[in-house]
Amino acid sequence: MRKILVTGALGQIGSELVVALRHQYGAENVIATDIRMPTDVRLRDSGPFEFLDCVDPNHITRVMQIHKIDTIIHLASLLSAIAETRPNQAWQINVNGLYNMLEAARQYKCALFFPSSIGAFGRLTPKYKTPQDTIQRPDTMYGVTKVTGELLCDYYFKRFAVDTRGLRFPGLISYQTEPGGGTTDYAVQIFYDAIKHRRYTCYLRRDTSLDMMYMPDALRAVIQLMEADPARLEHRNAFNLTAMTFTPDDLAHAIQRHIPDFEIDYGVDPVRQDIADSWPDLLDDSAAREEWGWRPQYDLPRMTDEMILRVSEKLKERTETSDMPR
Ligand code: NAD
Repeated sequence: MRKILVTGALGQIGSELVVALRHQYGAENVIATDIRMPTDVRLRDSGPFEFLDCVDPNHITRVMQIHKIDTIIHLASLLSAIAETRPNQAWQINVNGLYNMLEAARQYKCALFFPSSIGAFGRLTPKYKTPQDTIQRPDTMYGVTKVTGELLCDYYFKRFAVDTRGLRFPGLISYQTEPGGGTTDYAVQIFYDAIKHRRYTCYLRRDTSLDMMYMPDALRAVIQLMEADPARLEHRNAFNLTAMTFTPDDLAHAIQRHIPDFEIDYGVDPVRQDIADSWPDLLDDSAAREEWGWRPQYDLPRMTDEMILRVSEKLKERTETSDMPR
């Protein structure tokens, strides 16, 4: 990776991945792009930014030519809960947008990273220790677009030798940028409400078990996979990936170790519960471990310790800023 283009760079993953990539590969070598303009100074002032709508091939061509890109990290997407309310737009962005980026990768001889998701499985998939290669019949628009994306990436590698690589991310937990409308967003929001209000109303049932990961592990995974020796990659795309699995009840208990009077109650949202019920409980990520050495560093207690600390600092900073005389 010498000249890297990141699409959807202002989202939950991109806003942290761009900073990590700039640190490792040089600020001027990482071109952040999105359909919104950056407001976060860490991202805005640390390197180049371009407006790029992945649905518009003209935008893509312009940026590819100006910056002489060799690697595309394609993060632009609509997430699961939003995709269910706007299925047509989800197809446009998640499938046509990826197709345009793959075409650009083919034309300009770039590698391309594509994040799939635990949403790419379905109700017929084995839920426990979900195998790397297994049945995938999702019944959400998000899941349909993710399976399509996995297949398109395989096709572009096989047919055109484009160096496509990808992961199936679990729910991602982070404190810097708010999540963008996924089914696992509760696992971030719960920390803000626990610290601010000592209570949280969860939109998933208490026993809904899902794979999760703390953001630093996710960033490491992307870079490690893109740097992996291609000769070792049997799968290339759609590697199962996990770091921990827990239910809302488990997370509430982990938070109560820090905030003993924290209380959780449940007001189930049928749309998000239905999506979560169609997803696995725990992935088998042994292919990622064997083929490129994947090892997570954060489990539930370590992630909870970090989130409590970081979110508390962030909220304190916000209060101090709003208290400052104008
Ligand atoms: P996000 O919703 O936080 O960010 C997506 C970004 O894409 C936004 O900044 C948005 O402005 C931008 N975008 C939307 N339409 C666009 C378009 N037409 N052209 C260019 N940019 C556009 O998403 P995220 O959480 O950062 O996820 C990034 C990728 O990782 C997605 O493919 C998502 O499906 C996948 N993923 C995320 C998670 C998670 O928990 N966050 C889990 C599994 C997979």
